[in-house]
Amino acid sequence: MIVIIGAGLAGLTAGRALLNAGCRDFLICEREAQVGGRVATETDGEFLFDVGFAVLNPAYPMVAKYLSLPDLGLQYFDAGALLLHGEGQRSALFDPLSHPERTLSMIAQNFPSWPDRLRTLALRLRTRAPQRPRDEGITALEGLRSVGFSELYIEKFFRPFFAGVFLDRDLSVSDDLFRYLFDYFRQSRVALPAGGINAVATNLASSIPTENIRFGVAAESIEHGKVSFSDGTVIHPRETILAVDARAAASLIKQSDDCAFRSVTTAYFAAESLPWQQQRLLALNSSGKGWVNHLAVLSGVQPSYAKQQRHLVAVSGVGPLPTKTLAQTQGDIRRELAELVGREALDWEFLRMYPVDHALPVRFGHKNYESGALIYAGDYLENPSIQGAMLSGEKSANLSLLRRNT
Ligand SMILES: Cc1cc2nc3c(=O)[nH]c(=O)nc-3n(C[C@H](O)[C@H](O)[C@H](O)COP(=O)(O)OP(=O)(O)OC[C@H]3O[C@@H](n4cnc5c(N)ncnc54)[C@H](O)[C@@H]3O)c2cc1C
Repeated sequence: MIVIIGAGLAGLTAGRALLNAGCRDFLICEREAQVGGRVATETDGEFLFDVGFAVLNPAYPMVAKYLSLPDLGLQYFDAGALLLHGEGQRSALFDPLSHPERTLSMIAQNFPSWPDRLRTLALRLRTRAPQRPRDEGITALEGLRSVGFSELYIEKFFRPFFAGVFLDRDLSVSDDLFRYLFDYFRQSRVALPAGGINAVATNLASSIPTENIRFGVAAESIEHGKVSFSDGTVIHPRETILAVDARAAASLIKQSDDCAFRSVTTAYFAAESLPWQQQRLLALNSSGKGWVNHLAVLSGVQPSYAKQQRHLVAVSGVGPLPTKTLAQTQGDIRRELAELVGREALDWEFLRMYPVDHALPVRFGHKNYESGALIYAGDYLENPSIQGAMLSGEKSANLSLLRRNT
């Protein structure tokens, strides 16, 4: 039997790849009570709350290969961004290639400058995802500067937009990762599933027989080809695929934990009305100050996120939260929102807040898939994204099948 530890996107994809190859002799062991790991969604009956704002890019090859997109009921963001300049000032940027109907209004705007528009167009036309992005080389910020983008455009658009993607306000991630994800943004608008972001995982799991997944069992040690679980079970599998995050993997194989993560906090608010019309655009804090990085009106994109008439607004800040009480943090966020979007934000009802300390691994693509008897899977083996996690799962399954046949 093949044991897969972890039912995140990597572990589930490993299971699906095994099934696709005709192998049914595997067991996925997950310590939580549900699938998905870092793609998690909660509800209070009225709203859907993703545990940290996240979106699905249907252009990811692994998504097309393993997910049933029609069942996800995707609704799409518009391509572009709403720039919040502070003191209630805002301007909308639409990608004219995705929204030709907006071209005239975009031409009439004086931001971004024409040279920056042409550079954006050139970047769109030229950028192709590197086969396997590395976390080394020049940074995303250096890459943008080398293309000649103005500092104003970088500060008002690229920094907050990609800080939301990489969870890194410094844009110190590699230019490689930037080009990799930019290419997928170029190919498709991003979307929200009707059931929340966790639906990506349930969709993936739906064709895995229930007897192949066990919940509420944590692997506690892996030694000499033997896996011991928290419920006392001990299994001697033919192969073990360790599909947990980088930190949990290091702890299970008793290696020093040098896994740094990027963090994000998403606070949710309910609003009776909103001060802007373009609710399918991601809104960016382009004021250059404050904790808030981006806002999304989730119910404006995917109506299933709010059952009643109120709007659901996700407000995210990148990096660790200032160490304050919840009430102080809420108060700070409200004051910032009032400054950014206008005083209407003071009437928004605070619903919940999710600090996600271990959201994305800083380092990726370095570890070997095989070490002794173990096979690894997880986003940190490829790159920190849904695509990276799923690809690692598929590769780990192929390796275990290869071992079986040799
Ligand atoms: C807030 C946030 C926003 C994101 N936004 C996006 C986005 O917009 N687009 C995008 O492409 N990607 C996004 N990502 C990244 C993407 O979600 C992750 O890269 C991907 O989900 C990682 O999957 P994984 O299977 O590698 O790891 P995980 O999801 O961490 O799965 C590991 C699983 O192993 C289980 N586990 C751990 N230890 C044990 C044990 N001892 N025994 C048994 N089970 C164990 C865990 O419970 C978990 O289910 C985001 C991530 C976060 C956190």
